[in-house]
This record gives sequence, structure tokens and C-alpha cells, in this order.
Amino acid sequence: MELQDLLKIIACPKCHGDLSLLEPEALLCASCGLVYPIRDGIPILLIEDAKPLEEWKGREKKVDG
Ligand SMILES: [Zn+2]
Repeated sequence: MELQDLLKIIACPKCHGDLSLLEPEALLCASCGLVYPIRDGIPILLIEDAKPLEEWKGREKKVDG
């Protein structure tokens, strides 16, 4: 199944909001702001594996000071 088709039927496990593609390997829930990773083309819809968008974006940054 194509990821785009999958996106139509899957929902955020936390708030049941719509998921959209944030990056080739990440899905964003616009409702609660959690980012779910995609591994080997399979979205990992587990709340414990999800990260808040800010944390996801900041994963390459170092906290200064
Ligand atoms: Zn959500």
C-alpha cells in the first residue's frame, strides 16, 4: 500500500487527528503536534515513539548554555 493511501486511513493514536507527511520519514499530527517516525516505509504509530514537533525539529540542535 502506498503511504499516501495509508495516510487516509490511519490516525493519531493519541488524539485520532489526521496525520500528514512532515518529512520522508516522519508523520505529523496537526491536532496534538506529535511527530511519528516512519521506519522502512511503515509509520510507527506508538505514542511512546512519538516526539513533540519542537523536540523533533530541535533534535539536531544543541542547547547552548
Ligand atoms: Zn494527535
